[in-house]
Amino acid sequence: MKTIQHYIGGSVVESTSGRTAPVFNPATGSQSAAVALASATEVDAAVAAARAASPAWAATSPLRRARLLNKLRDLIETHADELAAIISAEHGKVLSDARGEVTRGLEVVEFACGAPQLLKGEITENIGLGIDSHSVRQPLGVVAGITPFNFPAMVPMWMFPMALACGNTFILKPSERDPSAALFCADLIKSAGFPAGVFNVVQGDKEAVDALLQHPGVDALSFVGSTPIARHIYATGAAYGKRVQALGGAKNHMVVMPDADLDQVVDALLGAAYGSAGERCMAISIAVPVGDSVAEGLRARLVARLATLKIGPSSDADAEMGPLVTRAHLERVRGYIDQGVAAGADLVVDGRGFRMARAGFEGGFFIGASLFDHVKPEMSIYRDEIFGPVLGMVRVKDFTAAVELINSNPYGNGTSIFTADGGVARDFVQRIQIGMVGVNVPIPVPMAFHSFGGWKASLFGDHHVHGSEGVRFYTRLKTVTTRWPCERREGASFVMPTAK
Ligand code: NAD
Repeated sequence: MKTIQHYIGGSVVESTSGRTAPVFNPATGSQSAAVALASATEVDAAVAAARAASPAWAATSPLRRARLLNKLRDLIETHADELAAIISAEHGKVLSDARGEVTRGLEVVEFACGAPQLLKGEITENIGLGIDSHSVRQPLGVVAGITPFNFPAMVPMWMFPMALACGNTFILKPSERDPSAALFCADLIKSAGFPAGVFNVVQGDKEAVDALLQHPGVDALSFVGSTPIARHIYATGAAYGKRVQALGGAKNHMVVMPDADLDQVVDALLGAAYGSAGERCMAISIAVPVGDSVAEGLRARLVARLATLKIGPSSDADAEMGPLVTRAHLERVRGYIDQGVAAGADLVVDGRGFRMARAGFEGGFFIGASLFDHVKPEMSIYRDEIFGPVLGMVRVKDFTAAVELINSNPYGNGTSIFTADGGVARDFVQRIQIGMVGVNVPIPVPMAFHSFGGWKASLFGDHHVHGSEGVRFYTRLKTVTTRWPCERREGASFVMPTAK
């Protein structure tokens, strides 16, 4: 069976750790490959390659970096279907969704192609007599990216195009559950002409991550994954003196006001809650209908539509929802549905009984869509991120109660409101304690030229990813004060400099 390896210093490198993990095809349930799990020594080799490439890459002009990114952009576009197929084969999401993931990642590469414009500094003339001051943003050095299973191409592309555009070298540690997309990207990066060592991949688990966290040769870490690990990465990385941005999990609510068009809401909710089998950090997992009549209308429409939801492997052109990523995750999601029932929530649609009958896919990690009504904030199905196709409805009496519910939730990634009232929508946008907000838009994922990131337990650190925040994260500011010799001489001064 094939073992998926590391990519260090411009070549695929065979692992020497002797440790591997299985990689599955979630649609069939069978193992498709093994992935190498790096030791600290292998991480050290990747850091050495990235450090060696760093000075020349940092000194490469932004325009030349942008030209290489432009080539990479074209290559990703040319190979987008191949990359989508690789994603589907290890993640399980349907092909159209995987293709969408590639497009969203590609948009960040396109944004990073603007490196010369993005990295322009600032200058002020005559801050004092004959003195000028200018600020530049310089690369950090070596940056590591640690990424989750649910977007094996897009989330790395939130990071490395920006990091490279800013003049850093990069080490990617992808999820061990779907590691092949990272190697495919490495191949495209090599074909685009990036120098060896500028982009590296170490496959691995906690051991590799801990080695990156502690390594003195790593200057900064971008992490995306679950909240407990994000918290650990932020605290440990900071303790080792690194710059860290660590994006965590989510529990995203959609408020449905009485004036909302319920048919539009149901279309939006279906994709937002059940698309990618709920394995999205921006998935809506809680619907908040305002008033019982909205709740009843929503419930009836959702039940009718879920009866026709098409579940299947990614190879089915009309499949709307694929399997979960692993058997362990399938059992975890089932466990949450059991807990919801035991806690007294009303299981209106039960996905636990779903069986994939298609020949060859009977062993896949499939589960049906589930819908709970009368969910209460103290239940585990409300508190925890289930990360599966399970939507809960929390009924509230009015708009204020909806805002209070969302603001009391420890997560703060995304939220949305469906309403026809501009005043209510504006009030919601102003008062809600969440990083990304949609108005009649169910999944408000910012475009590449804005920045992506949540608040509260959904992000540890000061910077969101990509957009202008990405430039700020991957560079540090240097401010230069300059005076050239001229005829005027003022003599020594011992007071704090002030503008004269
Ligand atoms: P995860 O936290 O299990 O893993 C993320 C990464 O951390 C992987 O590379 C993994 O190898 C590594 N890791 C796992 N355990 C570790 C440990 N103990 N020590 C060090 N490293 C460790 O997350 P996942 O299951 O791969 O992805 C799903 C999670 O990611 C969800 O919580 C989802 O909300 C979150 N996510 C968040 C965003 C966002 O933008 N906020 C985006 C995508 C996914």
